[in-house]
Amino acid sequence: MTSRIIYGPILSRRLGRSLGIDVIKNTGTKKNCNFDCVYCQLGHVDYKVTGPEYVKGAVKPEEVIEGIRTYHKNIDNLDYITFSGTCEPTMNLGLGEMIMGIRKISKQPICVITNSSLVEREDVRSNLAEADLIVATLVSGYEDTFKAIHRPADGIRLENIIEGLKAIKKMKKHPKLGIEVMLVDSTIDFPVNYTEKEINKLIEVIREIDPDEIEILTISRPPADNYIIPVSETRLKEIASRFDEAFGTEQVKLVLKGLKRGRSSMKHGNLEEEVYDLILRRPCTFRQICASLGIKSVELAPIIDKLRSSKSIFETGNVEERYYKAA
Ligand code: SF4
Repeated sequence: MTSRIIYGPILSRRLGRSLGIDVIKNTGTKKNCNFDCVYCQLGHVDYKVTGPEYVKGAVKPEEVIEGIRTYHKNIDNLDYITFSGTCEPTMNLGLGEMIMGIRKISKQPICVITNSSLVEREDVRSNLAEADLIVATLVSGYEDTFKAIHRPADGIRLENIIEGLKAIKKMKKHPKLGIEVMLVDSTIDFPVNYTEKEINKLIEVIREIDPDEIEILTISRPPADNYIIPVSETRLKEIASRFDEAFGTEQVKLVLKGLKRGRSSMKHGNLEEEVYDLILRRPCTFRQICASLGIKSVELAPIIDKLRSSKSIFETGNVEERYYKAA
């Protein structure tokens, strides 16, 4: 089964109801990325792309704009149109043109979720400048922890990322900048980024970046490396209080597990494809699929059976929480 470049709308814990865009085509590999994060829900990277110039299957701006034009008819209310998916969106240098094209046909706010790897590049920053919201990941203020968690492609350095994020805030036309602090724990004690030392450094660095908002979260789906586990809710709350003291409660959001919103009222096209698209981009439980797509369990059950029989998806996880993952 092939995936599409436009998917959703889906409900997410962070952005509410959003329509997703993948700007790099699935070319037989499930993820194109310049990181290989220990916590990645898509598993290990097959091919670590070193830069936008080496990307295979980059989607053209006109394909995205046409896709949005078609999809838009099915959507009654969205919180965001979001660039994310199974790759790092800033690796497609047509991103700015895509955003400008979407603006001509839609009034929906546009968000780019980035791993921050390329923000040191001026061309990437000017593409990002076209969005309404940038959600940029930052896991540590220390180079060695950054490398251990993200396992970036050669040449990507945290110090350059921090400078790039600071530069986004200084751009004339700068979108709202959110920093996503992804915290991880480990059964082998490494790598971890929730210790006092790590949190102090993160607060220091984020102060320099001066973002508009900060999100604190931990993993909620099966990670690439099975020794990576979520940070406890108690510790997450302590860390959120530290950030509240440093930046004010208005600016800090603690994202805990679970979707808070009710069912969406979207019309579905091919529901089987929508379920597969969702699972391809992130492993999901049965309940999460129902909540994300706003469908009932009786509608989902036969689709899951069909996708499992065709071996497009398989079941994984532990006895308490079973996830469906793309094969
Ligand atoms: S979590 Fe995101 S940035 Fe990290 S490897 Fe996976 S797709 Fe890439």
